[in-house]
Amino acid sequence: MSRVYNFSAGPAVLPECVLQEAAAEMMDYRGTGMSVMEMSHRSKAYQQIIDEAEADLRSLMGIPENYKVLFMQGGASQQFAAVPMNLMKNKVADYIITGQWAKKAWQEAKMYGTANAVASSADKTFSYIPDCSDLPISENADYVYICENNTIYGTKFWELPNTKGKDLVSDVSSCFLSEPVDVTKYGMLYGGVQKNIGPAGVVIAVIRDDLITEDVLPGTPTMLRYKTHADNGSMYNTPPAYGIYICGKVFKWLQNMGGLEAMKEHNVKKAKVMYDFLDASQLFQGTVVAKDRSLMNVPFVTGDADMDAKFVKAATDAGFVNLKGHRSVGGMRASIYNAMPIEGVEKLVAFMDKFEKENR
Ligand SMILES: *Cc1c(COP(=O)(O)O)cnc(C)c1O
Repeated sequence: MSRVYNFSAGPAVLPECVLQEAAAEMMDYRGTGMSVMEMSHRSKAYQQIIDEAEADLRSLMGIPENYKVLFMQGGASQQFAAVPMNLMKNKVADYIITGQWAKKAWQEAKMYGTANAVASSADKTFSYIPDCSDLPISENADYVYICENNTIYGTKFWELPNTKGKDLVSDVSSCFLSEPVDVTKYGMLYGGVQKNIGPAGVVIAVIRDDLITEDVLPGTPTMLRYKTHADNGSMYNTPPAYGIYICGKVFKWLQNMGGLEAMKEHNVKKAKVMYDFLDASQLFQGTVVAKDRSLMNVPFVTGDADMDAKFVKAATDAGFVNLKGHRSVGGMRASIYNAMPIEGVEKLVAFMDKFEKENR
């Protein structure tokens, strides 16, 4: 068996010990004589798995009592519709456009009401986070929406926008559990787990109780109502049972790693190795304004598409895979999520240094 260093933006690298544990439990989960995949979600064994996953997530993030944790399906993209359907009571919301995921969410919301783009960094290819300290927030806005870490462009909100009292809704897909978070600053945060937590197919949302109501837009499907999932412990129907089980293992791994403070320290260290190299390199350049750099997704270019392609190929041959940038932007992108060990980043940088010396 040989494992590569996988820099994929998602689905992405998971901790090896989690994969090993899951493999060991595959044929017989703790004396049940079956795998978790084959188990009734109404069984005692599964109830314990989902309950423990929620309890561990709550303790990791310090989620207050008045917030619900919902395990749902449909990917982060499904939430682009679910958010307005559930939360647009006045049919008005303000969106901050910092990349493709925010833009898609905004376009979806426009189907359900007035969705205003109150700020954007489209003018400079989303290479920065706009100043959000004094935006023209709509008086009757139901919420203000951001994509907190921009997976494609490699920017991150290091300061949350001033929402002028409106509830903040945040897509945290690609920075979920990468650092401590003050949940009380959000009305709702959510993310697809395939970037930093588990297998594709699970979406986790953390929502303040009072935002979960029957008062949703007409025509909102039962499965897209937050109340349906909140009232049924995320088991109104069959949940993505195996995926939630893996998420639970990742939560335990995070606890063993020392929790989110320790994870942030680890992530800062890893990202510094990348950015310090890029800042000193004559061949490679980072594409993002320094103060808005993501700890999770590091895009970079050589400025020459042929050289980029040559690098991606050479890196792949050397066991550093999935470094090609998003199809919409080109260049390279190293996604260095929680589970990427620092050795992976150090070896990548050593490889880049060698490539630079050979290609200057
Ligand atoms: C990947 C990603 C999405 C889309 O996730 P799907 O689960 O494929 O719908 C949305 N937002 C962000 C920030 C992402 O990184």
